[in-house]
Amino acid sequence: MPLDLVTIPCRTDNYAYLIHDAATGATAVVDVPDAAPIMAELAARGWSLSDILITHHHDDHIAGVGALQAATGARVCGGLSDAHRLPPLDLALTEASTVSIGSELARVIAVPGHTIGHIAYHFPASGFVFTGDSLMAAGCGRLFEGTPEMMWASLSKLAALPPETLVCSGHEYTASNIRFALSLEPANSALMLRSTEVAMAREAGLPTVPSTLSEELATNPFLRASVPQIKAALGMADASDVACFAELRRRKDRF
Ligand code: ZN
Ligand code: FE
Repeated sequence: MPLDLVTIPCRTDNYAYLIHDAATGATAVVDVPDAAPIMAELAARGWSLSDILITHHHDDHIAGVGALQAATGARVCGGLSDAHRLPPLDLALTEASTVSIGSELARVIAVPGHTIGHIAYHFPASGFVFTGDSLMAAGCGRLFEGTPEMMWASLSKLAALPPETLVCSGHEYTASNIRFALSLEPANSALMLRSTEVAMAREAGLPTVPSTLSEELATNPFLRASVPQIKAALGMADASDVACFAELRRRKDRF
């Protein structure tokens, strides 16, 4: 049985996620922008928190960890290389580390770029990947610490997961990401369809996450730096994939 997945809006545009194993009662949260909305969701569902999984050290992903840990006694898990700038960790993780949540095992994928120590959590049995500010819905995180080479390699690892994987990312930036994508590929029919779906979801006050990896592959320009249509749109038909990715990121920073 796949884990239950609950998307929790936090702050102005952050998301946290609850995952729950009905068989064992284990419940984990991925990122804690704020403790209060997560406590409220746990109470409403009658779940008790066993684990806190952190993707990266930015305040909008960890600000509520201390309060949530104090209230629940949950185990805190995060990247070893960022241990010095994360809340105290009970379990420090590196690439290919595994974390068990109830009866399911998550594998850690190192995804440096937005920050150097950023990690993602892949749950192969349920088909979830928690990507924080690395791969985002129709976009990717800014390169605050890493190089384009690093982020392109990170996104390429995520792109190789099964296409039906649900991509659970950290922010509601999808509408503006899609405006940027459409400026490059105005005739991409999958992108036009997604633009309509995202606009309808936002009008209804609904999150646009999670998305599927297959729709990201079809519409997210940052996963499409190797595709001839994107290279042509950049005027970089003969450039390397990573050079095209770097140019996409530069243009999005100014968009
Ligand atoms: Zn961040
Ligand atoms: Fe963030």
